[in-house]
Parts: sequence; C-alpha cells; structure tokens
Amino acid sequence: MDIGQVLTEIEDHVVPRLKLDVGEARLYYHLLRHSRFVGKHDVLISVAQLAEVLNCSKNTVKHRLRTLQDKKIIDVTNTGWAGTRIKVFLPTEIQGAVPDETAPQVQDIEAIDFYKDTKYRPAILEREQGRCFYCRRTLTDEDSGLDHAEPQRANGTNSYRNVVAACHSCNSSKGDDTAEEFVRKLYRRGFLGAAELEERLADVAKLKQGLLRPII
Ligand SMILES: [Zn+2]
Repeated sequence: MDIGQVLTEIEDHVVPRLKLDVGEARLYYHLLRHSRFVGKHDVLISVAQLAEVLNCSKNTVKHRLRTLQDKKIIDVTNTGWAGTRIKVFLPTEIQGAVPDETAPQVQDIEAIDFYKDTKYRPAILEREQGRCFYCRRTLTDEDSGLDHAEPQRANGTNSYRNVVAACHSCNSSKGDDTAEEFVRKLYRRGFLGAAELEERLADVAKLKQGLLRPII
C-alpha cells in the first residue's frame, strides 16, 4: 500500500468533502495505523484505550466513532468485553470521497471567475461560513453579495484569492479601500473588537496567499 497516496487522498478529499474535524481526522489516522497500515481490515480496541491515546474523554471517543460511522469511514462491527471491533475503510473505499479518475477533470480553481460565475457563489458563502468577510455579521439572502478584497481599481482580480462574501453595508461603505484598510476602519468605528481585528487581518493575509480555497 502506498501510505503517502492514502494520506494525500485523506488530506485532499476525505477531510474537505466529508468535513472531518481535527478530532475525527486524528481518530481516523489512529485507526488506520492499527488496521490497514499493518495489513488488517479491522482493529479491536477499547474506547478507554482510544480515550487515553487521543487524550480525550470516553464520551468524545464514542461521539467521534459515531460520526465516522455516519460518514461511512469506519464500521463498528462488534462491541464486546474484549473491546470494539472496527472495520476501517481506505479513502478509495469510501463512497464519494475520492473523485473518480475517469470522471471529467475537475475545473482548475485558479482559472475560475468567482465574481462573474454565479454558480460558485454558494462555495464562497460557505467558505465564509455564511458571514460577512469583513464584519462577520451573519448573511441572509437579502443582505449578501460578493466583493473584491483588493478593489478592482487597484487591479483586484476575480479569483477566490480576492473575491469574498460581504453584507450590503460593508459592500457599499468599503469603496476603494483595501480589505486591510477597511477592517481597520470597522475597528475604529467599534464594529470589531481588537481580537476580531487581528483575526480579520490574518484572514485577509490567508486569502491573498490562496489559503482560503472554497470547496468547488
Ligand atoms: Zn459586513
């Protein structure tokens, strides 16, 4: 087995597509390590052991086992006195987790016009977790739109590295400010706290570096 390939599939497909949180991913890695990575299909382990290894409560382990099972990443086949027998699936064995190589090629995200192509709007909204990129207010259908972090007049592009979801108020008051200038203004006007300002500035930096990729 090519473990590097498996890890790449987990990072590139399983985690974003099945929305694994850090705890679920950690548990999945641990279970893989003791099953598929050593040539077995399943692992017999107790919840108490897992709680100790993962440094969390037994309830947390049980919850994560349930969510991994719901996502069809594992199958808890038997719980008995000797522990819990868990069948562990590889990314390619999880339905819908890894794109089929024979399927049409996924569009190159760098080439997509996220401002003009409206079908990608939900992906931007989801990346922003349904909140305005600048003031973090929860967006509604009536009060949301797309905005350029770096203004178009300053050669801001329509890439996911520059297009954000914003509320109407931010959209109209930002004008030709850069995203950094604008969130500082929001801070001075009392719409953002100091910690929020730092977070917004960090997100602006991440956006520009291409680290805030929407899932398309
Ligand atoms: Zn806003």
